[in-house]
Amino acid sequence: MTKKSDRQLGMGRAITRRDFVQGSSVALTAALATRLGAANPGTAGSVAGAQAPAYYPPTRTGMRGSHPGSYEVAHALARQGAQFDDAVDTGEHYDVVIVGAGISGLAAAHYYRQRFGDDAKILLLDNHDDFGGHAKRNEFHQGGGMVLSLGGTHNLEWWQFSDTVRDFMDSHGVDVEAMRGKMGFNYGTEAPNSPAMWFDESTYGVNRLLPNCHLDHRLTAETIDLIPISDAGRASLKSFYGRQENLFPELDESAVETLLAGISYPDFLRQYGQLTEDAVQLFHNMAHGAWGVETRALSAAEALWTGSPGVHLLGQPWPDEGLDYPVAMWPDGNASLVRLMVARLLPGVAPGVTPNNVALADFDYAQLDQPNQGVRLRLNATVVGVEQTDTGVTMGYVEGGSLKKLSARHGVLACYHSVIPHLCPSLPEAQKEALQYQVKIPLILTNVLIRNTKALDKLGIDAVNFPGRLHGRCFLFRGINTGGYRHTMGDTGPVSLVFWGSVSPPDDAIDLKSQLRGSRQKLLQLSFEDFEREVRTVLDGLLGPEGFDVNEDILAITVNRWPHGYSYEYMDLWDPDFAEGEAPHEIARRPFGAITIANSDAGASAYTHVAIDQAWRAVSELPDARAPET
Ligand SMILES: Cc1cc2nc3c(=O)[nH]c(=O)nc-3n(C[C@H](O)[C@H](O)[C@H](O)COP(=O)(O)OP(=O)(O)OC[C@H]3O[C@@H](n4cnc5c(N)ncnc54)[C@H](O)[C@@H]3O)c2cc1C
Repeated sequence: MTKKSDRQLGMGRAITRRDFVQGSSVALTAALATRLGAANPGTAGSVAGAQAPAYYPPTRTGMRGSHPGSYEVAHALARQGAQFDDAVDTGEHYDVVIVGAGISGLAAAHYYRQRFGDDAKILLLDNHDDFGGHAKRNEFHQGGGMVLSLGGTHNLEWWQFSDTVRDFMDSHGVDVEAMRGKMGFNYGTEAPNSPAMWFDESTYGVNRLLPNCHLDHRLTAETIDLIPISDAGRASLKSFYGRQENLFPELDESAVETLLAGISYPDFLRQYGQLTEDAVQLFHNMAHGAWGVETRALSAAEALWTGSPGVHLLGQPWPDEGLDYPVAMWPDGNASLVRLMVARLLPGVAPGVTPNNVALADFDYAQLDQPNQGVRLRLNATVVGVEQTDTGVTMGYVEGGSLKKLSARHGVLACYHSVIPHLCPSLPEAQKEALQYQVKIPLILTNVLIRNTKALDKLGIDAVNFPGRLHGRCFLFRGINTGGYRHTMGDTGPVSLVFWGSVSPPDDAIDLKSQLRGSRQKLLQLSFEDFEREVRTVLDGLLGPEGFDVNEDILAITVNRWPHGYSYEYMDLWDPDFAEGEAPHEIARRPFGAITIANSDAGASAYTHVAIDQAWRAVSELPDARAPET
């Protein structure tokens, strides 16, 4: 086997990849660090605060997403039971303090002003160094002009919008049809030989790229002959793809549905598809991006419903088309939506921003948290305690290593649900238990800025699936010309190659939540260098033969790791059918005095429109009358 050394892979190259120069602003003071014990972030580098002139997190590369410095305080609270008392009272008092400046928190600020007036005093607190939560913007400035990429939340599934969300989009000037008209991007399925599959030497004994290799009806016997698995495995694939029958003629539709909902997709492939184990393994990470889980966590019904092969065994024709997913997108994903929201709430941050220039507009982060503003947004601030008082709420938070507190009439918790019981221990026990039902799904988006697309163009590919690698898939991210940004499908210059997926959980993690926790733990243990080595190894094997030089052609790498990614959604194999009003997310989001609960977790559905709907509900549940001033 030809394993390359780190040096040969270019690991020592001075690409833009490490962010410890700009670092994290959560530099814990000695006193607080002692109280936290082992929870010290270890990255207490610079103390660039939100007010520093050059503070502009979207250009940071290296480990992003849940970046070093963002989660240590919350982990100390939730995992180690760290106590946070003796907070310094800042004397600040607001109408509402919103925990979490993701899409739901920002939408809650919008709805709060709508309900309580434009003069309402609002503070948003977020533990990250940038606003937007999952909707994070990645900017590259190497090798020419600015190249934008996705740091998290990708797109708008507009056909699922409620009337509330449609109004919200209208009020922010978002026109999804116009956006669709400016997109050529279709998740890397536009090139003639895409998507392709790459089989790697360390898993399959040989590096082999199979262009036009789809695990759907287009998979031909000739392509199957080239898949490097056992002869029996290839024969089982040929037989599976060649069949057209109805396995259950005696069952009615609902009986078939029940059957499919009760069997995992890999078991369906084994039992009814008659696939060998090595053939079944080809499918194991194909849902890492869309679902964030292994296929073994999906029922056959869920997998088939989202286009995985098998309906040809149920008397139905193969679907004709490949991907038909008409989403609307900005070149930085839904980070542009977030920027529109911030610009509206805090006009001083980005004057003159419109949907037509939002992707290019300058944002002055120094204006986010100014005392003379009605709305303030404080970054690098982790909330550690929320308490009811006679007149509203008090909140404790850690910022820059100091423990501080402030008060408000109302509190909206738009953060991850699993942390809320730790923030607010006085919640009813049943509600705390329901909040902790929500175990988020880990995800990764590793953006690799490459010098040009020559090697991919020679191969005629713009998307590749990797059944044997850490990231399940990569795709070229270009062809989105919204928000004033232009990056055409034909541009062959610097571009972000997005490696997308999740981390396979340990084999001995059986139930879904053990799988999610196991996957999260593995993700948090991977260093930036592990990701860098991985993408360099893949690109060397995949594109090296076409002249791509991993030493010269990789300009920057940004890893967006999301240990707490998609909201948990109820799944066939793992969750009972809950009676209406009794589902954990419905119990979890019950109002608690002056405190209400938002976030997409509150809808048990990992979508931007759900985050907005839940913000609307949370604000409408706040007690009517403004409590008297303290
Ligand atoms: C990689 C990825 C891709 C996705 N793609 C899509 C997509 O294409 N389309 C789609 O509709 N959805 C997508 N989603 C789902 C996404 O979660 C939602 O669309 C939406 O962005 C969620 O917004 P939110 O405000 O509910 O949560 P979040 O974005 O998670 O925001 C919550 C914020 O609260 C902060 N917080 C947590 N605890 C504290 C604390 N104690 N103190 C202070 N702050 C705290 C968090 O750090 C975070 O910043 C994707 C998610 C991920 C991770």
